Amino acid sequence: MSSPKREYLFKVLVVGDLGVGKTSIIQRYVHNIYSHCYRATIGVDFALKILNWEKDNVVRLQLWDIAGQERFGHMTRLYYREAAGAFVVCDLGRAVTLQSVQCWKDDLDSKVMLKNGKPIPMILIGNKSDLFPHGTRIQNVEDLGRELEFTNCHMTSAKVTHWQTACSIC
Ligand code: GDP
Ligand code: MG
Repeated sequence: MSSPKREYLFKVLVVGDLGVGKTSIIQRYVHNIYSHCYRATIGVDFALKILNWEKDNVVRLQLWDIAGQERFGHMTRLYYREAAGAFVVCDLGRAVTLQSVQCWKDDLDSKVMLKNGKPIPMILIGNKSDLFPHGTRIQNVEDLGRELEFTNCHMTSAKVTHWQTACSIC
């Protein structure tokens, strides 16, 4: 008989300016869907991504989408409490959203930490790479990620998946 799987639950915050694509990234990641419709949800949206991590572990990522309260400094400690990590999202097409990245990171660093007192891991996301696949702004996001000591940095598109990109080339 196989032994029961070990279960882990992690709260993960998704923050960034209005319109950068936070909700779209979550919808794509969790449900593999994308919609053009602008969803101006008020409050907090939750989504659960379940991952089979190696053969013995089940990881539940509870993704917190700040939905409609995208002004740094306005998020309360209560909202950030016990987060295990965060994605800070910016829009490759809007420089102003890159300028906000430091504010979001500072806000998180000042309000939440891991149980061992260390900062929570944060990943910087440059979204809408389908519209801006090249150019200096990608370099700017990567530089920013290093400069602000993000755990990692990725360019994403909630709209176009790798599979679709590959197909449009063939
Ligand atoms: P949020 O306010 O950060 O949650 O942003 P939304 O997820 O609501 O997205 C804002 C707008 O950007 C919507 O019209 C989305 O369809 C669009 N959008 C989101 N992600 C992408 C993307 O990767 N590529 C493109 N082209 N548009 C996107
Ligand atoms: Mg949203």
